[in-house]
Amino acid sequence: MGNPTGFIDYEREIPSEAAPLMRISHWNEFSTPLSEDKLQTQGGRCMDCGIPFCHTGKLISGMAAGCPVNNLIPEWNDLVYQGRWREALDRLHATNNFPEFTGRVCPAPCEGSCTVGLSGAPVTIKNIEKSIIDRGYAEGWVVPEPPAVRTGKKVAVIGSGPSGLACAAQLNKAGHTVTVYERADRIGGLMMYGIPNMKLDKKYVQRRVDLLTAEGVTFVTSTEIGKDIPAAQLKEEFDAIMLCGGATKGRDLNIEGRELKGVHLAMEFLSKNTKSLLDSQHQDGQFISAAGKDVIVIGGGDTGTDCVGTSIRHKCKSVTQFEIMPKSPETRQPNNPWPEWPKVLKVDYGQEEAAALQGQDPRHYLINTKKFVGDENGHVKELHTVLIEWKKDDHGRFVPVEVPGSEKVYPAQLVMLAMGFMGPENTVLDQLGVEKDERSNAKADYGKYATNVQGVFAAGDMRRGQSLVVWAINEGREAARECDRYLMGSSNLP
Ligand SMILES: Cc1cc2nc3c(=O)[nH]c(=O)nc-3n(C[C@H](O)[C@H](O)[C@H](O)COP(=O)(O)OP(=O)(O)OC[C@H]3O[C@@H](n4cnc5c(N)ncnc54)[C@H](O)[C@@H]3O)c2cc1C
Ligand code: SF4
Repeated sequence: MGNPTGFIDYEREIPSEAAPLMRISHWNEFSTPLSEDKLQTQGGRCMDCGIPFCHTGKLISGMAAGCPVNNLIPEWNDLVYQGRWREALDRLHATNNFPEFTGRVCPAPCEGSCTVGLSGAPVTIKNIEKSIIDRGYAEGWVVPEPPAVRTGKKVAVIGSGPSGLACAAQLNKAGHTVTVYERADRIGGLMMYGIPNMKLDKKYVQRRVDLLTAEGVTFVTSTEIGKDIPAAQLKEEFDAIMLCGGATKGRDLNIEGRELKGVHLAMEFLSKNTKSLLDSQHQDGQFISAAGKDVIVIGGGDTGTDCVGTSIRHKCKSVTQFEIMPKSPETRQPNNPWPEWPKVLKVDYGQEEAAALQGQDPRHYLINTKKFVGDENGHVKELHTVLIEWKKDDHGRFVPVEVPGSEKVYPAQLVMLAMGFMGPENTVLDQLGVEKDERSNAKADYGKYATNVQGVFAAGDMRRGQSLVVWAINEGREAARECDRYLMGSSNLP
């Protein structure tokens, strides 16, 4: 620890962001990096406390507390404080293949469990992580590092999201010959076609894919395993298979009027938008436009927020977001102590933008949609809703109970269903005979990743259900280690 009183001497400072009304006119990222001096000062706020929870990645009360990839946070905070950026980059890459992704989109459970946060504002861990890797690229320190020796073993990775990419990077590092299969036309999984460009610019995803290619990983796009290539064929041709296909089945809302035009799963809206943006800057018209429409987003999570931000950039007439759960408190409650993940109200970029445009936060809480009603052309025109309360039933479970007289009608010409995901698709799992767990994910123990089929491993959302980029990287890295052990008898991978 370079500065023992840094956390007392200096306030937390994060990068400034373009004002909501300015940034909604484009699809670019919108934060301005802190100066080097300021970053060093922020690094100096780290106390290097005796038991740094920030890098433990433990589940406490079912939520991650600390970094799931066990980033060596106090070490690189100190290196940044001392201006030793190159060494900070090496320490960061020791645990995280893709800090440019987590530094942008991670919800930063590390900061929720930072000890400085016990009595003030936590260290700006996520921004320091992003600054280290951005500096690394700018200085030309991030270069392809192909393995010196090849083992002759071949591994197929199905799916190119963060778990598949981390898995491929690690297996390639161990000298195996890795082919990544992706059914989309671009590599990156939800980092490419889920998370919008203003949150994670796709040029950063492609930059990492180019590096992996230069290191010797082969990428095969527009190829769906189970359809274009039977899964059994991969089993014949490769020594091992890594299942990293994500949890892509969207949760639907099968109520009256679901078949109406203008009611879409969120992922259809988001993925078409990014594809059209990247292909033609939206000139091809191959996206679902929210322009001039009253938009309702059903679902209050990250996916819903991304639908709000995207609709606003299309210049929608209005946007409203429905959440079935109650509003979170502004501060930690006694039953949610440090170092647990803080369950507090988050105002994300989409809500900030909607509030700047419409004068208020777009979220409505404790609201349930009863039916969609269409016009004479079969197009949605309104939503019928009711407020609910959560009450315990006879078995002690919380269930939604309608509040009498709270029915309301909302006009809407575009509706997005952003209510989470139901687990992975079945085709590949069934073709390979992979067992599923009770939540329909690929069945494989955390830390082992081996499925019931010899030589077939599962990682990321396909194994754990819809989660976070940082968990996908964690699982991809660890599954690679287990696969390496399976192929070679032992492994030097972390
Ligand atoms: C809209 C949205 C916003 C999000 N925002 C955040 C965020 O801000 N921060 C965060 O940490 N997390 C966020 N997440 C979650 C995060 O993106 C995922 O947890 C993470 O991408 C999972 O990684 P994965 O590699 O397991 O799967 P995915 O990223 O889902 O990748 C799986 C890939 O496998 C491919 N595939 C599937 N089956 C086949 C097949 N048979 N053949 C070939 N290819 C196949 C799919 O096309 C896909 O590209 C968000 C998710 C969504 C939907
Ligand atoms: S990956 Fe996430 S949890 Fe880990 S240090 Fe970065 S922001 Fe924190």
